[in-house]
Amino acid sequence: MPELYLLLGGNLGNRTAYLQQARESIAADVGTISRSSGLYETAAWGKTDQPAFLNQVLEVKTELTPEQVLQRINAIEHELGRIRQEHWGARVIDIDILFYDSLVLQTQRLTIPHPQLHLRRFTLMPIAELAPELVHPVLGQSISQLLKSCADKLEVQIYT
Ligand code: AMP
Repeated sequence: MPELYLLLGGNLGNRTAYLQQARESIAADVGTISRSSGLYETAAWGKTDQPAFLNQVLEVKTELTPEQVLQRINAIEHELGRIRQEHWGARVIDIDILFYDSLVLQTQRLTIPHPQLHLRRFTLMPIAELAPELVHPVLGQSISQLLKSCADKLEVQIYT
């Protein structure tokens, strides 16, 4: 069954409760969550006058196609009351597809692997916890190599 890595993030309201609701909806509508990273806290990226984000990566076994996954995660974001007001703005939950096996896909609606994953420490750190040896199918480097060479200086802390 295809293995999917999803990144969850949110910076509004009760962040851990929104992440939990998102995990429950993903388990119900997308597939079986086989592993989940810890939670990581990061100052807002691209825009600093807003609350810090909590992020988590999930490994999910799914029977859905990437397009179907996108539809389901968009519906979950919508249900959880995401406010789409500004680019990089505050939101209760954002769900991104990082990897779908070693698939490389670029359509108008979907880019897989996620085009920014190697640029963001808050994405690389939680995937590195689950899959340090996973090789990025476009860049040809493992997650731990990408983390070592990542220029993003935003501090990412384990959230307890
Ligand atoms: P945003 O919530 O601002 O990150 O943008 C969401 C939109 O980005 C979605 O509706 C998708 O059409 C598009 N998108 C492109 N690639 C991806 C991806 N790998 N994961 C999630 N959304 C993606």
